[in-house]
Amino acid sequence: MADPTMELLRELTEAKGIPGYEGQVRGIVRKHFESLGEISQDKIGSVICKAEGSFEAPKVMLAGHMDEIGFMVKHITKEGFIHFLPLGGWFDQVLLGQRVVINTRQGEVVGVIGAKPPHLLPADQRNKVVQRKEMFIDIGATSKEEVEEAGVRAGDPVIPRADFVLLANGNTYLSKAFDDRVGVALIVSSLEELKSNDHPNTIFGVATVQEEVGVRGATTSVRAVDPDVAIILEIDIAGDVPGIKPEESSVKLGKGPSMLIYDARMIPNIKLRNFLMDTAEEMEIPLQVSYFERGGTDGGAIHLHNTGVPTVVLTVPARHIHSDSSIIHRGDYDYAVQLLVEVLKRLDAEIVAEFTA
Ligand SMILES: [Zn+2]
Repeated sequence: MADPTMELLRELTEAKGIPGYEGQVRGIVRKHFESLGEISQDKIGSVICKAEGSFEAPKVMLAGHMDEIGFMVKHITKEGFIHFLPLGGWFDQVLLGQRVVINTRQGEVVGVIGAKPPHLLPADQRNKVVQRKEMFIDIGATSKEEVEEAGVRAGDPVIPRADFVLLANGNTYLSKAFDDRVGVALIVSSLEELKSNDHPNTIFGVATVQEEVGVRGATTSVRAVDPDVAIILEIDIAGDVPGIKPEESSVKLGKGPSMLIYDARMIPNIKLRNFLMDTAEEMEIPLQVSYFERGGTDGGAIHLHNTGVPTVVLTVPARHIHSDSSIIHRGDYDYAVQLLVEVLKRLDAEIVAEFTA
């Protein structure tokens, strides 16, 4: 029998949605939100699902971003090759040889990211990293006219072409866009759980847009929600691959969700952070601790809303993030849902007031 959680993650990660072009993934999110609460949208496309509990306040915002890193068509050469703009932070070394899909007004066009082949490079350049500006997308055309006839135009979104795979041990998943469709899925899974559980608050599950280009959807949607407390749901960088020192990241796949104690744009509210830690301990849910010395999350904008919002970041560790193939562990996801649901069942007006006392 199909596993609904795995199918949710498959559906969400295979959907195409780079910053500013989240339409396809937004449609899927709206479909899942439909039975979970009242849906609204901010004016740049973030989707908000309001799930009423037994009290109107506190208003709890959950945020996960719908967009994934990708590219945009910038320029077509007369020989029929496509130069591209990155949308979001790519590691240039993972680009070469990757298949991509260009969403044109005429439909999808498949291509591959190429560069000058190593055979033709002088010896001193062969061992060097190829710069992104030397790369291009090849759709198999032989002229600019052919590219245009296929429907490709400057401004078209380019999305990695990668499918969802259940890996050999049966517990790990490989796909693109776990960053941050996992966060979106966590909102859906936790709201589904809470349909049959009372919660002393009103939850606003928000699938934000344009996080990867500077937390833009979080900036607008937090104004629509005006929350009393916020939990950001994200992907963490797993530190269990070769070459990472324990002090750089000690987060491991399969050892539970993790919580950020620091990122470059936010220091979490300490009482809220401790509340999550204490709840995890009490429920015997493993919770790892992590930090982003560079980079931030939607929390960077949300915690600065109005006069400030107590905010924390709960994550699922992933290997190889910001490439088109990352890996997560199902156990970490399930524990994250469990912890989130437990926290949402407890966040009442009295506890939330204490966070800023
Ligand atoms: Zn992210």
